[in-house]
Amino acid sequence: MVSGIAEPASPGSVLALIRSGEATTRNELAEHLGVARSTVVQRLGVLAEAGLVRVAGDAQSSGGRPASIFAFDEGAGLVVVGDLGQTGCHLAVCDLGARPLAELTASLQIERGPEVVLAWVQARFTELLSEVGRGWEDVLGVGIGLPGPVDFQTGRPVSPPAMPGWDGVDVPSMFADITAAPVLVDNDARIMAIGEHRQARRGDRHMIFVKIGSGIGAGLIAYGEVLRGERGAAGDIGHIVVDPEGSDVCRCGNVGCLDAVAGGWAIARRMGDLAPTPPDVVRLAREGHPEATGQVRRSGRLVGVAVADAVNLLNPTSVVIGGKLAEADEQVFAAVREVVYRHATPVASRHLEIVLTELGHMAGIIGAAHMVIDHVLEPDRVAELVERRSAGPVA
Ligand SMILES: [Zn+2]
Repeated sequence: MVSGIAEPASPGSVLALIRSGEATTRNELAEHLGVARSTVVQRLGVLAEAGLVRVAGDAQSSGGRPASIFAFDEGAGLVVVGDLGQTGCHLAVCDLGARPLAELTASLQIERGPEVVLAWVQARFTELLSEVGRGWEDVLGVGIGLPGPVDFQTGRPVSPPAMPGWDGVDVPSMFADITAAPVLVDNDARIMAIGEHRQARRGDRHMIFVKIGSGIGAGLIAYGEVLRGERGAAGDIGHIVVDPEGSDVCRCGNVGCLDAVAGGWAIARRMGDLAPTPPDVVRLAREGHPEATGQVRRSGRLVGVAVADAVNLLNPTSVVIGGKLAEADEQVFAAVREVVYRHATPVASRHLEIVLTELGHMAGIIGAAHMVIDHVLEPDRVAELVERRSAGPVA
């Protein structure tokens, strides 16, 4: 067997076909995998015993015995996920269909550092689990989004400008005391992109998701897959320089970055006592305060300039706009859209769709859940999962 690739008719590959809906009956599975029906029956037995598949009904039949349809049991386990921003967070316990069963939004200061923030997050996860009558033993994986570049392979933030104390921190190891399940860490805009793509825009081959919040970031989908880049910095649109002659110093040390002129924190810096924090800016914009709405719409136009460049570079199918500033005032989205269509080349913008996020503030946790579920149910990891479940008490 080639290392890292599951054998063609392993329980994992049977499960993958059932999850994708490509094959759901014994005959379809046997045909897809090119193996005997008896092999499929045995694999289905293993998966059913581990609680991962169940019979969901009968296929229509023109005669003879109807064929059983097998389905993935999304209640077979849980994932816990957190979308951590600079000033707020959204935490959830989800089933294996990425549906939130319990969730919580709260304010949070990421700059308090990893020890304080992650201990607090873990305590909230424990509470959410007990809310649904479950515990850490039911958790198959953990997914965390952070507002900065993250090396996905190691789960370590890489020089994040707005997260003092987090550079290079081994985030997964900080969960070792509480769970043996895998902990995946990624950039916040990127998990939002995954969520939006998987749940609302599956057919888009290439997508840019732009988060306009305290900071500004983007998640990229290329050929249907998330694009992370060499060190996890792909999509870091916030540090594209849009005002090189200006005087706004960015948290990264440069002058005139998009983040430094258009991010929620930059608006708060300009508004001073009127709106000292990004959540104050959002609140005032929602209330229609003239200065706040003027500022957030200006942000929309500046984001549009940077997004137009990204559109020219990547020629995406769609651009999806999300984040708290975009949700605070619908004119922010209108401004981005108008500027992108004006500045992008005709060939890149002619068929381009620019839309507001359908998932809204749910995009991050749903994307993080999909990221973790896909990881733990990769065909070559299923055998281990099956073994663990048949050895210990089944959840
Ligand atoms: Zn910068």
